[in-house]
Amino acid sequence: MSTSDKPLNWRTRLIHSNAKPLPGFQSLVTGVERGSTVLFQRFADVADDWKQKTRYRYGQYGTPTTLELGLRIAELEGAHHTFIVPGGLSAISVVYLAYCRTGAHVLLPRSAYGPHTELVQGLLARFGVTAEHYDPAIGAGIEGLIRPETVLVWCECPGSVTMELQDVPAIASVCRSRGVPVAIDNTYAAGVMFDAFGHGVDISIQALTKYVGGHSDLLLGSVSVASEAHYERIGPALAQLGLVVSPDDCSLALRGLMTLGVRLERLERSTLAVAGWLKGRPEVAEVRHPAFEDCPGHALWKRDFTGSASIFSVILREDWNAARVAAFIDRLRLFRIGFSWGGVTSLVMAYPGLKRLDRGRGSRLVRFNIGLEEPQDLIEDLRQAFESG
Ligand SMILES: *Cc1c(COP(=O)(O)O)cnc(C)c1O
Repeated sequence: MSTSDKPLNWRTRLIHSNAKPLPGFQSLVTGVERGSTVLFQRFADVADDWKQKTRYRYGQYGTPTTLELGLRIAELEGAHHTFIVPGGLSAISVVYLAYCRTGAHVLLPRSAYGPHTELVQGLLARFGVTAEHYDPAIGAGIEGLIRPETVLVWCECPGSVTMELQDVPAIASVCRSRGVPVAIDNTYAAGVMFDAFGHGVDISIQALTKYVGGHSDLLLGSVSVASEAHYERIGPALAQLGLVVSPDDCSLALRGLMTLGVRLERLERSTLAVAGWLKGRPEVAEVRHPAFEDCPGHALWKRDFTGSASIFSVILREDWNAARVAAFIDRLRLFRIGFSWGGVTSLVMAYPGLKRLDRGRGSRLVRFNIGLEEPQDLIEDLRQAFESG
């Protein structure tokens, strides 16, 4: 490129180069396409639409890398469209901001992800949104809680930490008849073990941070919608908020998708082995794993899910307290202490302030995430931590 026949100064050449690598490269992976500015060939081509349906407009609305991830998640979940957002929590917050106004009422289960509850009690309360927690076992009884000003009902199945299953189709059917959209935090199911849209849900979010990422090295979220109407509702909210994601993170998530099937299969098997062993321990009063009959709502898991994942909780017997739980956790060697889950490393966490279980059971609860280690080694680690105390 030159403006006349005169050669360009080397400084200008740094910006306007003639270097063109060989076109036609094909590999098995999606390229990482970065860019804020998107170029138009002619001024007449300038696009002005967050949808980018026929041409790209601006990096904010996605590059081929981020859009491919959205298309792949939509394909997996059977969604009308999937938006990619910076994390699972931003997926939750953008749904609220798309549907709420001052004076609105929303319903969410008591077993919801902790920061989700903090969002409704913090920022949303400040903007005049009333959030009401409901019993996760409510099912069709949700009808009695819906008010004229109810704009959104959330499900999370199973619930965070306490693992209660929900009758999502019953809730969705009531909400449909009342014209209230239903959103679900479908992170546990990795978007594949529970068919949110097949069960009547309107909006399904995931923390891609967990199973899709799968290696504890990225934070991303997805918001999938069942219909064009919800797409038209969430799209502008997202565009106005300016929540953007890095194509580099999206390329890691795309890589994670390639092994999601084998990881989930192996994680399910290892988790059942470790949880089953814990069930036989004298120290353990309850094992909350959806595939176990005594998990609250187990029959719903059996009816609605095609598998189980890598997290579960145990509640230790009454002679345990928060201090004894902490000492037990510190004796574990393979289980690392940390938040989040869905990666390759086994993790352990306790929630001494957890109030939603009666008889002080919250302070005796330990949550495990099983990774890709050999389950027998994990069992031996648990055994030594119980027996050396
Ligand atoms: C981790 C998690 C989130 C939040 O995801 P981030 O990507 O960490 O923001 C939301 N919901 C559930 C159920 C989670 O476990």
